[in-house]
Amino acid sequence: MKLKRRDFLKGALAGGLLCGAAPGVAGAESVRKDLPPKAVGILYDSTLCIGCKVCVHACKQANNMPAEVQGPEPYWDNPLDLSAKTLNVIKRYGFEGGKDAAEGFAFIKRHCMHCIDPACVSACPASALLKNQENGVVSYNKDACIGCRYCQIACPYNIPKFEWDSPFPEIVKCQLCSHLLAKGGISACCASCPTGASLFGPVQKLREEAARRLRMKPGEYYDFPVAAIDSGESQQHRAAAYVQHVYGERELGGTQVLYLAGVAFDKLGLPDLPEDSYVALADGIQYAIYKGMVYPIVVLGGLIYIIKNRQEKKE
Ligand code: SF4
Ligand code: SF4
Ligand code: SF4
Repeated sequence: MKLKRRDFLKGALAGGLLCGAAPGVAGAESVRKDLPPKAVGILYDSTLCIGCKVCVHACKQANNMPAEVQGPEPYWDNPLDLSAKTLNVIKRYGFEGGKDAAEGFAFIKRHCMHCIDPACVSACPASALLKNQENGVVSYNKDACIGCRYCQIACPYNIPKFEWDSPFPEIVKCQLCSHLLAKGGISACCASCPTGASLFGPVQKLREEAARRLRMKPGEYYDFPVAAIDSGESQQHRAAAYVQHVYGERELGGTQVLYLAGVAFDKLGLPDLPEDSYVALADGIQYAIYKGMVYPIVVLGGLIYIIKNRQEKKE
């Protein structure tokens, strides 16, 4: 009997679920990864964003990406979402009321989150996606890529895109402007942002800056750094009534891109995720499997049961 992929996945899922029940019961602990020593990232503050999309165009220029003419004003580059031509997009959520009000509207910037424990890297069978061990940037090597698109399926934020219309397609995603970082520069989206809504810097300092903002009194004026946390440039803005949560600090083991907003993150299209990364959970299960040698039998048993059951039904 041929084992179809569908059956295999079902069996693996059954076995996986049996093991998944293991945390706390059978020693399948998740292994949380540390922030790389020189981790850099971006703090995006939705309350400071004016939706000008200068960052979108700066990103295109810095990364030689073509324009995407679409949307209700199809006269200029105006991407509605991430695509094989767009690494960074600004979206507007909500239609009534004031900015950052619960029933109002707010902007959100979407691009790769540069996960601390990236699922795309773990899923790639060809090591075409790599996490830099020093600065934590998740980069892509087109020469190693075999085009399987497992990274697309694995990414919990739906970031990697595929060049469907190219004879030699590649995966496309933000690489934190690594070519600019290599020359001592910063990400183009942050360098170009006129309000400091996109701020570049060491992740630890960005976390501290985010915590400082959460302590601010709404309505009072404060200094906000512009472009990079240590650029020495700043602007005064009234502090918004922030949602008391730094998105990305803990989600799926944490990300090097952090978000602040005045409205709930799920209203801005950011998924509500657990703290343990899927990779850490899988590692924990594997650890339990190889530790006890009991679970391989359970997984195998699950697979055999499903295959036999199916064969009997057929007969
Ligand atoms: S957001 Fe997606 S593509 Fe980016 S590092 Fe995380 S898993 Fe990979
Ligand atoms: S870091 Fe660079 S590639 Fe990534 S969104 Fe910003 S400008 Fe685009
Ligand atoms: S450049 Fe800054 S203010 Fe303008 S859309 Fe981008 S993040 Fe928002």
